[in-house]
Amino acid sequence: MIGLCSNWINHNLCTGCGTCVKICPADVIRIDENTKRAIIKYSEDCFGCQLCKVHCPQGAIQMTPKRHMMYPPPLGWR
Ligand code: SF4
Ligand code: SF4
Repeated sequence: MIGLCSNWINHNLCTGCGTCVKICPADVIRIDENTKRAIIKYSEDCFGCQLCKVHCPQGAIQMTPKRHMMYPPPLGWR
């Protein structure tokens, strides 16, 4: 699968709680063993559902859709 968005995790905000890891249906996110913070491990599998962003209690996840690859665009991105 081709990643449909670019995701960033702000490690100044992330607490490593793991919510995004558990909720991602595409298994994209992992907790880095060294930093204990979330990382986008398999960005190519992200299909842009935004669940990680919506459920992050710290507001640490930012997403930018690759609009040219997405039709119709997800709700909220129109
Ligand atoms: S849900 Fe947010 S705070 Fe928790 S690990 Fe993921 S990015 Fe970090
Ligand atoms: S947007 Fe959806 S598929 Fe992409 S990393 Fe977040 S939860 Fe996973």
